[in-house]
Amino acid sequence: MTVRLAHVGIAVRSIVDARIFYEEVLGLEVESVEEIESEGVKVALLPFPGGEIELLEPLREDSPVGRFLDKHGEGLHHLSFEVPDVQRSILAGIEHGVETVGDAPRKGAEGREIAFFHPLFTHGVLIEVCSKRNAAVDEAASGS
Ligand code: ZN
Repeated sequence: MTVRLAHVGIAVRSIVDARIFYEEVLGLEVESVEEIESEGVKVALLPFPGGEIELLEPLREDSPVGRFLDKHGEGLHHLSFEVPDVQRSILAGIEHGVETVGDAPRKGAEGREIAFFHPLFTHGVLIEVCSKRNAAVDEAASGS
């Protein structure tokens, strides 16, 4: 079973402000910015070998990321691991009394299937599991 770190999610008030550090100081580049209306969030992806930084800016104050910012301020929001089978991870969680946050699985950026495990059951860090990028999305992106 291959598991890899997909991305590190960071809650920010403004992607326009936050990207300056990651681009100008770290030398990463924003590859895409996508609004996920159902989650009330705008997502900027900055890839690097072995993973990505995912900047999360709330579209509304009453969204999950909006409420996170209210409570904690900017900072580490979640770690995302790419797993072979999101559904199987959810079932393994159920088997061990680990609860998910919201609907699971649901649709994330890049056509991925995602699920979140509540930090209460994961020793304090919100953990996302995601499927590989949707192949159809890759094809559309490469124009083939
Ligand atoms: Zn994520």
